Amino acid sequence: RAKSEGGNRYAVADPDSEARAISRHHLTHHLPSALRGCEFFIEYQPLIRMEDGSIEGAEALVRWSHPRHGVLGPDRFIPLAEHTGLIVPLGRWVLREAVRQACEWQVRGIGGARPLRVNVNLSPRQLHHPDLVDETVAVLEEFGLPAGSLCLEVTESAMVRADDHELKPLRQLAELGVGIALDDFGTGYSNLASLRRLPASTLKLDRSFTEGLQHHPPDPVDLRIVEGIVSLSHTLGLSVTVEGVETGLQAERLKELGCDSAQGWFYARPGPPEKLPMAV
Ligand code: C2E
Ligand code: MG
Ligand code: MG
Ligand code: MG
Repeated sequence: RAKSEGGNRYAVADPDSEARAISRHHLTHHLPSALRGCEFFIEYQPLIRMEDGSIEGAEALVRWSHPRHGVLGPDRFIPLAEHTGLIVPLGRWVLREAVRQACEWQVRGIGGARPLRVNVNLSPRQLHHPDLVDETVAVLEEFGLPAGSLCLEVTESAMVRADDHELKPLRQLAELGVGIALDDFGTGYSNLASLRRLPASTLKLDRSFTEGLQHHPPDPVDLRIVEGIVSLSHTLGLSVTVEGVETGLQAERLKELGCDSAQGWFYARPGPPEKLPMAV
């Protein structure tokens, strides 16, 4: 770019990408002390039942309150933590804290007759950790949370890449009653038939599909694709949650298409756990 702007400018490396590279290195270096120093916190985003607009639970989304850079989103540091392996202790902390929080909501009777559930994201490294099942069961027992009140979200690409042996822990957890959600569905490369072999109870339709439904009139092909995925999911006994619902129009269309639950800014943004009871 510098060249095309004329000879009287210096051709310097893109300062943006340099800053990003330095801070990636910096962030990676500081992850362990951040975990020790309790710099992470969790925001919860409500999951809404389409049929009546009630809250069925919330997804736990981790953030890093960095002393110098402010609040960092998971896209900035989860890949780094995954790369270094720190995701295992970090993920362990998120799971324990989210289960504790769900238990607190249940003890306080929030959600009424239908107790709230908590959804926790698992990265591939956690999925392949030998203690996943034991640790999850131990945390549920520690707080007395019913297995059905926990749902683990694994991305479609991570789940599809796993062979039958690698899927065994998820299958065991599913048999205990823990929900398993196929996250970001539609961004990976699974063929629909492979859904049959996955131990999932819920399919989370990626935000990109929701975006396509915002147009006036909606793209008929987008509509048909969502309709097809919903109908196949229901045939396989999976419920469908849609991500990234930002407008009432999208919500209406997705409800008509048969989606079971939804999540997005239209309903509520991720927020501190104290805020959730107010959304119920
Ligand atoms: P995800 O699991 O697909 O989570 C949904 C993301 O969509 C969240 O981004 C959420 O804030 C955002 N979102 C929700 N509603 C809307 C909406 O209406 N419009 C738009 N544009 N976005 C919306 P966030 O919090 O930045 O998290 C990004 C990703 O980081 C998550 O994607 C998840 O894959 C990962 N992540 C978050 N927490 C954890 C964690 O504790 N462990 C692991 N392994 N990954 C995590
Ligand atoms: Mg998720
Ligand atoms: Mg997702
Ligand atoms: Mg996503």
